[in-house]
Amino acid sequence: MTVSATSAHDTIIGLEIHIQLNTFSKMFCGCRVEFGAAPNTNVCPVCLGLPGALPVVNQRAIELAVRAALALNCQLHLSSVFARKNYFYPDLPKGYQISQYDRPLATDGWLDFQENEGGGVGRVRIRRLHVEEDSGKSLHDRFAAKTAVDLNRAGVPLVEIVTEPDLRSPAAARAFLGQLKLALEYLEVSDCNMEEGSLRVDANVSVRPAGDSEFMTKTEVKNMNSFSQLEKALAYEAARHLRILRSGDQVEHQTMLWDPARGEARPMRGKEEVHDYRYFPEPDLPTLVVPEELVERLGGGLPEMPWQKERRFVADYGLPGYDARVLSSSRALADLFEAVARLRPDAKEASNWVMGEVLAAANDLGLTVERLGVDPKGLAEVIGLVAEGRLSHNLGRQVFRKMLETGKSAERVMEEEDLRLAGSAELEAWVREAIDGNPAEVERYRAGEEKLLAFFIGQVMRKSEGKADPARAREALVERLGKG
Ligand code: ADP
Ligand code: ZN
Ligand code: MG
Repeated sequence: MTVSATSAHDTIIGLEIHIQLNTFSKMFCGCRVEFGAAPNTNVCPVCLGLPGALPVVNQRAIELAVRAALALNCQLHLSSVFARKNYFYPDLPKGYQISQYDRPLATDGWLDFQENEGGGVGRVRIRRLHVEEDSGKSLHDRFAAKTAVDLNRAGVPLVEIVTEPDLRSPAAARAFLGQLKLALEYLEVSDCNMEEGSLRVDANVSVRPAGDSEFMTKTEVKNMNSFSQLEKALAYEAARHLRILRSGDQVEHQTMLWDPARGEARPMRGKEEVHDYRYFPEPDLPTLVVPEELVERLGGGLPEMPWQKERRFVADYGLPGYDARVLSSSRALADLFEAVARLRPDAKEASNWVMGEVLAAANDLGLTVERLGVDPKGLAEVIGLVAEGRLSHNLGRQVFRKMLETGKSAERVMEEEDLRLAGSAELEAWVREAIDGNPAEVERYRAGEEKLLAFFIGQVMRKSEGKADPARAREALVERLGKG
């Protein structure tokens, strides 16, 4: 098949996603799962692969995997089989990884996602979801000219989710992954912390002439743990494929490694064929049986998913779609909004404060919304004070920030920090200063240059350090300037 220099083309993408399950202990032993522990401290004969040590399945991991499978509309298999995937690597002490192969926990699911803001909804089919253990880590930067191995991660529970090649652009791949991450966070299946590697993506990509039904040879970019790098790597690979095909050559079936610093993908190795792994059923573990009652219980306990919440926020609170989408982008944010909206008559106002001031505070302090720990009652109180005109919006924001810092009530902060709107005498004084200090502007204003009013309001606000109510300042200024 050839791709001419001008003909249109499609980009084809399928993802293999590894997600670290949110468990206290490892997949087949009691060792703790702990990011950043001193190297090789969370290890035991099982995860070190010592002779005679036997694996025992972590029930919590299975429950989390089942939750994920159900939420992703998969067909859940009540019996599935662990398999050994054999390969040699220094960070794989047993010489094999326990995974699942021809009989995975779940198959044939799907997840819908919004391709872009205001755009259409895409559906990605999920080919399979299986449970496996993680490998250890090779550390290349601890000792000069030596590689060290840390086995704390060896045996940590993962699910691998494999999609069908249903994605059609790097941006769509990113959007889909965002939706998947959000779903898994809502489910509390994983913290999906990408910096700590709890969500890692292998991305498969190929291009073909537009409208063709056959797939061309793909390459696989390994182990990406950032959305933006994933998008860049896919765009890079798609462009490279297109160049190769247009020149009449063949793309080589390869595994690539993305170099974020140089913005290029380099071949890592020829792609292993499946038989290289010599998969066979794990002899040390029985068939994994998930009782039907457990599936029912877990299915009944699924939380409201982000897309359901989004719809409900529009229907129940009359929020604009944009607000509903931002608020449902994290469970903590959505919960906070609802708690505040219950305490206040105006849901849109609650949404404005949560999307505006809460997110700004989280951003400024470098904290997640969970860690920020906003008390909904306190926030509702501040919103009320602004609504009643006892605080300007600006003062309300300052009071809110101080409340976050100190945990004190709004009234208390207002008193201690003297954050309250100025009385009329103070306001009058600032207005007079603003007028007396700027005779030229006064003259221009009185000659008809009315837009200078904003300048005077600015002067008053600055003199008052934000304590003047802008509406009252405007009134007073219009009156005084009018008198001339
Ligand atoms: P492999 O045998 O190389 O592992 P699979 O068919 O098992 O390939 O698919 C692995 C992943 O690659 C899946 O996520 C799948 O959607 C994706 N994929 C398969 N073929 C293509 C292709 N031609 N272009 C892009 N992605 C593909
Ligand atoms: Zn162990
Ligand atoms: Mg495969």
